[in-house]
Amino acid sequence: MRNLRDPIPLPAGIRTACALALALALAMAGRAAAQAPAGTAPRGSSTDGFEVTTDRLDYAFAENLEFRLEADLPGQVEQVYLRYTIGQDAPRNRRVPEFTPGGRRVEARHQEALVRGAIPPASVIRWWWSVVLDDGRELATEPREERYMDERFDWQSLEGEEIRVWWYDAPRNLAEEIAGQAGAALGRLAPLIGSHPDRLVEIVTYQNQEDLRNAMFDRGEGYEERLSTLGARVAPDILILDAGSGAMELEEVIAHELSHLVLHLHFEESYMDAPLWLDEGLAMYVEGPLDSGEQRTLDRAVAADALMSVRSLTSFPGNPDQVELAYAQSRDFVAFLIDSGGEERFRRLLTELGQAEADVDSLLLDTYGYDQLGLYQAWRASKSLPPAATPAPGSTPRPLPRPAPLDGGGLPCAPALWLPLAALVWRRRSTGRKTSSSE
Ligand SMILES: [Zn+2]
Repeated sequence: MRNLRDPIPLPAGIRTACALALALALAMAGRAAAQAPAGTAPRGSSTDGFEVTTDRLDYAFAENLEFRLEADLPGQVEQVYLRYTIGQDAPRNRRVPEFTPGGRRVEARHQEALVRGAIPPASVIRWWWSVVLDDGRELATEPREERYMDERFDWQSLEGEEIRVWWYDAPRNLAEEIAGQAGAALGRLAPLIGSHPDRLVEIVTYQNQEDLRNAMFDRGEGYEERLSTLGARVAPDILILDAGSGAMELEEVIAHELSHLVLHLHFEESYMDAPLWLDEGLAMYVEGPLDSGEQRTLDRAVAADALMSVRSLTSFPGNPDQVELAYAQSRDFVAFLIDSGGEERFRRLLTELGQAEADVDSLLLDTYGYDQLGLYQAWRASKSLPPAATPAPGSTPRPLPRPAPLDGGGLPCAPALWLPLAALVWRRRSTGRKTSSSE
């Protein structure tokens, strides 16, 4: 393994061994692929004389990838292409590497600079090359794969039927506990969503915020000082966790993030989405009941009739003071749908949402007989609140109670712009209270 960065400064006495062991970070499958002899067989006809001597990927986590090909050719090289994918169902990247045209031997190299968070840990990177000769023949290598892991740590993994847990620097029973909690959460999700994940889910467990940071997009210093990420969905089938800082709430965080993951895998296309109140509300629902602080916030808002409508919670407020209520209300909307209509009807709503191009109002109307406004009114009635005022036809809509917009950079809702895949659970450090989660 080349291209290893210097060991980063680590808390004294804690992770020295891991820092020294960073070269072990190549995960099992990846390591086997990387260290196997370059058994690359050319494809297509007229490939006699195409002999690959080097075909490898080296990387420095969150810094760069370097692909290299060395091969003897049955003709003179005119062009070389590198193609690679990151993760399953991922778009294909095409690059023209550095190489010198003309010889009967090619030495090609492509380096890709990475920003942190650009490639989730535990992603499988798959690559292959094609070499065009001056007589027009095109030679291709067999695809190879390597698993991309944060090389600072000595990763171990535990594989179950639906989940693989990656961890370092912790006893095996931590991973077993996480696997057990994840399995239980999948069991709770199945009757609500109607499916299990269609692939192995990777859960990458870090031990603290500092370790986790390189696996996340940079949100700016202020953000990271104020908020911790306890868990995030960073790819369709990958969750990252901070098992150290989030130990108290680990089970809830796992259930929450798995809910986002299973729901999106249930959808037919990766671009499909659920309104935030439904996605976050379901994630909160499978966590279990609201905690006492969240319940108090909801009760107070109901008592004062200072609530946000269902439709306004299609996106979440930028004002952090309103975020807890947004989550609590979203959970309550979902609980209302499940309690009043049963699991089967709720499943039908989610399935139709993941199949159709139709908007959520017409799907709700189909399955429940009311749209988002009707749901809000029915939910209010269940709280013994009068119907919310609705605009008369043709009039300017009365603004629904809506929190102030984002006041300054880097607060909870902003990540939606930068990290559409990440479902984040945040915790405000000063209070230890979960304040928001963002999709
Ligand atoms: Zn969430």
